[in-house]
Amino acid sequence: MSAAETLRVVRVIAETHDAVSLELVTESGRPLPYRPGQFLTLRIPSARTGSVARSYSLSSAPHEDGPLKVTVKRTEGGYGSNWLCDNAVAGTTIDSLAPAGVFTPASLDTDLLLLAAGSGITPVLSILKSALAQGSGRCTLIYANRDENSVIFADELRSLTAAHPDRLVVLHWLESVQDLPSVRTLTTLVAPWSDREVFVCGPVPFMDAVVEASGNLGVDPARVHVEKFVSLSGDPFAEVDDDTGDAARVEVELDGTTNEFSWPRTTVLLDLLLARGVEAPYSCREGACSACVCRVVDGEVKLLRNEVLEREDLADGYVLACQAVPVTDTVRITYE
Ligand SMILES: Cc1cc2nc3c(=O)[nH]c(=O)nc-3n(C[C@H](O)[C@H](O)[C@H](O)COP(=O)(O)OP(=O)(O)OC[C@H]3O[C@@H](n4cnc5c(N)ncnc54)[C@H](O)[C@@H]3O)c2cc1C
Repeated sequence: MSAAETLRVVRVIAETHDAVSLELVTESGRPLPYRPGQFLTLRIPSARTGSVARSYSLSSAPHEDGPLKVTVKRTEGGYGSNWLCDNAVAGTTIDSLAPAGVFTPASLDTDLLLLAAGSGITPVLSILKSALAQGSGRCTLIYANRDENSVIFADELRSLTAAHPDRLVVLHWLESVQDLPSVRTLTTLVAPWSDREVFVCGPVPFMDAVVEASGNLGVDPARVHVEKFVSLSGDPFAEVDDDTGDAARVEVELDGTTNEFSWPRTTVLLDLLLARGVEAPYSCREGACSACVCRVVDGEVKLLRNEVLEREDLADGYVLACQAVPVTDTVRITYE
């Protein structure tokens, strides 16, 4: 069970014209352990709703033993990213849930193919730095951006390449020079490294194109790990604040462990589990894949969206954790 932790901004770094990094430490002085590729969920103040919850991947790496670092790129018309870019200064405090997420290599000693586009570099950089510093495998990074000025972490990548010329290859793809990377191009780019574990993060069309390219090359989908940047719809902080609010109770069995939580009615199950530090599986987070599938063994849930489960699956109790909100006051879920 994880509670919200107050973090203090100790430094703001302007990375590009529309992205900043925030270095953060805990107010309590307690360390906040995490694995490369994991993310924080921050509570961002809002005059309209009190607060909104937004997740940001850590671009720092655990072995660096420094402050936690998140890197936020402005989303046009978006609330949370612009609030952070405009308002966070050294001294700002902000609540966060414990680091969470499954976009992390099982071993740092395997050879990795990393693909990132835009702010998708954030978790990828954490994985890359960890693999180079603490693992023995070789890494290739294919990094797509609009133009040279949009490349976040250009200097850090230059230094890493200089320090590990025998283990790291970085290939930059600039839309301004080469146009958008197509499935055909990506198939050619990925081919020499298609036997590796693949980690991909970026805008949806980029990720879809990489997944299709990997499929063309016969890469086992289990080796392709995808992190999707979406805004949370519910408020996973709600239960941390108030266990007695309008919430259901949920019992969840995963990997032989059973946990029981209060489940706010507007929070989808996956967000709740990640916020509580449960390593529930997921991929698309929008009801379009079945990576987060689990089964209701008692009670009832509603799916906000479902593009994959058939009527028979639903009849057997299968649901998508990323879209499930409670209907009954008690629910029992199992991941088999
Ligand atoms: C695991 C994870 C890790 C992430 N890591 C990072 C990271 O490292 N760096 C990063 O920059 N981002 C990251 N994100 C994305 C981040 O959480 C936010 O989704 C992103 O910053 C946009 O949030 P926002 O509040 O600015 O935009 P939102 O306010 O959520 O808006 C997003 C889009 O929706 C539109 N929109 C908003 N409200 C409405 C409405 N009512 N009707 C129609 N359209 C609407 C907006 O115009 C905008 O185009 C991550 C997400 C996840 C899930």
